[in-house]
Amino acid sequence: MTPTRLLTRRTFALSATLGAASLALSLSLTAAESSTPVKKWYKGNTHTHSLWSDGNDFPEMITDWYQKNGYQFLAISDHNVLQAKEVWVGEELVKKRQTAPGSTPALDKYLARFGSPWVETREKDGIKEIRLKKLEEYRPKFERPGEFLLIQAEELSANYAMELKKRVPIHINAINIQEAILPPDGTSIQDVMRKSLQAIHAQGKATGRPVLAHVNHPNFRWALTPEDLAAVLEENFFEIYNGHPMIHYQGDATRPGHETIWDVANTLRLTQFNAPPLYGVGTDDAHHYHGEDSAPGRGWVMVRSESLETDKIIAAMRAGDFYASSGVTLQDVTFKDGVLKVQVEPQTGVTYTIKFVGTPVGFDKTTTTVKTPPDDFRPERIVYSADVGKTFATVEGPVAEYHLKGEELYVRAIITSNRPHPRPSYEDQSEMAWTQPVGWQSRLKETK
Ligand SMILES: [Zn+2]
Ligand SMILES: [Zn+2]
Repeated sequence: MTPTRLLTRRTFALSATLGAASLALSLSLTAAESSTPVKKWYKGNTHTHSLWSDGNDFPEMITDWYQKNGYQFLAISDHNVLQAKEVWVGEELVKKRQTAPGSTPALDKYLARFGSPWVETREKDGIKEIRLKKLEEYRPKFERPGEFLLIQAEELSANYAMELKKRVPIHINAINIQEAILPPDGTSIQDVMRKSLQAIHAQGKATGRPVLAHVNHPNFRWALTPEDLAAVLEENFFEIYNGHPMIHYQGDATRPGHETIWDVANTLRLTQFNAPPLYGVGTDDAHHYHGEDSAPGRGWVMVRSESLETDKIIAAMRAGDFYASSGVTLQDVTFKDGVLKVQVEPQTGVTYTIKFVGTPVGFDKTTTTVKTPPDDFRPERIVYSADVGKTFATVEGPVAEYHLKGEELYVRAIITSNRPHPRPSYEDQSEMAWTQPVGWQSRLKETK
């Protein structure tokens, strides 16, 4: 408890002096800063589904929802398809997908919002069909420079067939690709991950357009372990939070939750693979838009970027200049001179707990194993010592800073509010935010 109290006191003293110091600093920097572009925070979701795959609404309706709900960018990421070809969908299928009792049919809402002739229908073999609009068709309806941006994406959804009826889902989002990528085959889970990521990055290279890949929901059907995430070095991002109710953010008795997955993967990367830690994204993975289970608005990223342009957003994310959120907004997060500082944008009546977690350099490397239930693809899982993903400090309040002591492999901050999530994806969920791991660069050995 003592370190916590100490840190709290020091934080208060420092924030008082910092206020005056930063004012002086900003005054003296005004001239020099005028040539540097001012960075702003942009809210975006990079993982969402539509009728183009297994979602239950039209892409324009989904885009409309995100635009009206305070997002600045959106990447609809359907399974193994880009919204770039002619596709008609049967009205019956649209109705079948919509399971919320008493909800207005999706087609009626679509017609009410966009009307005819935008909404195109036809009769084919006695079946009413609706044409799904391509991204390039509806993009101009929504995009506004500096205000709203659509990014083309796909959820590259591969499987690794362990044996008959044991197909491990390996889902990786490919953001800003220009052509659809087919799911690869591979000789192992990690091989399929690697081939998927290589295909995404190869396309980025070939087109000269920056791409971003994030590995999705590791605990969906308990598919990916922290060891998988650690070993596949082609990957730099994973979903620390995904709003789908079946992704087991919290893990269970024998399988680690997302927080532990992240800390184990980061620790293994820095100590065994000489590789940077993973950055964590927050996403919706929404499939349903009429009041059902897999709803939009649960998780997102806040990216600090020079401008709202795809290249700039991706560059900022690659540089780790973003955080993941499921409701908590940060005024600022900085890492300077060995100090990680987090400032929450406080809401009236809401309290915040800021936890600084990481792994000490001299961590206890002892591991044990635990047998898994029959639904797991592996007979057992590795359990790491409590040093991996250890809490270095806990601060109650909207502002906190952690001074690295030089003994940390990395540090990251988890901010938890006491406000219940308005659209929870698991029991007792409260709003949170996650900053990226910092302080790890010096842990990487130079390689030739
Ligand atoms: Zn998925
Ligand atoms: Zn998905």
